[in-house]
Amino acid sequence: MSTSQHQTKKIGVLNLQGAVSEHLAALNRIENVDPIAIKDPKQLDDIDGLIIPGGESTAISRLIKQNGLIAPIKNFAKQGKAILGTCAGLVLCGKQTTHNEVELLDLLDITVERNGFGRQINSFETTLEIEAIGQAVPAVFIRAPYIASAGEGVRQLAFVDDKCVMAQQGNIVVCSFHPELTQDDQIIRYFINLC
Ligand code: GLN
Repeated sequence: MSTSQHQTKKIGVLNLQGAVSEHLAALNRIENVDPIAIKDPKQLDDIDGLIIPGGESTAISRLIKQNGLIAPIKNFAKQGKAILGTCAGLVLCGKQTTHNEVELLDLLDITVERNGFGRQINSFETTLEIEAIGQAVPAVFIRAPYIASAGEGVRQLAFVDDKCVMAQQGNIVVCSFHPELTQDDQIIRYFINLC
C-alpha cells in the first residue's frame, strides 16, 4: 500500500514593504506550507518559492536594491524556483514599464502599464475566469497595473475587458490583483504546486 507523503514547502514572502502579513496569513491557511518572511538574500537558499507582494513598487524596488537582493532574486528564478508577483510585485517582475522610475527584475517578458486601472478610487473587486485555475475566482484590484504586451513565451491567463491581468512564463507567475485579500486560495495553491 502506498502512503502519500506530503513534503512541507517553505514559501518566502519578500518582507520589505506592502501586503506582507496578508500573504503570510494566506499561506498559513494552507496545509504543508511553512511561510517565511524574507529580507536577507541568504534566506533565499532555504526556500522553495518566493512571493513578491503588492504595495508600492517604487519603494519595494529601492529596498530590493538596498538589501542587495537584485542578483539573488534573479538567480533564484534562474535556478527554476517559482516566484509569484502580485500587483506591485507584478510590476517588479516585468521587463519594461511605462513609468520607468522603477528598476525591474526582468523575470518574464512583459511590458507593464503601472496604475493602468487608475487611482485608488478606481480600485474594484470582480471575479475572473482564469485559465487552468477556475471560472469565478474573486480578485481585488488596488491601483492595479495591467500587462500591456507579452512575449511569445508568456501564457496570458486572465483578462479584465481586454486587459491582461495574469500571466505565467515557466516558473514565474504574476497577477495585477491581490489574491491574498480574499478567502479563495486557488491562485496561491496553483503557485505552491509550481514550487
Ligand atoms: N500602483 C502600485 C505600484 O505601481 C501597485 C499597487 C498595489 O500593489 N496594490 O507600485
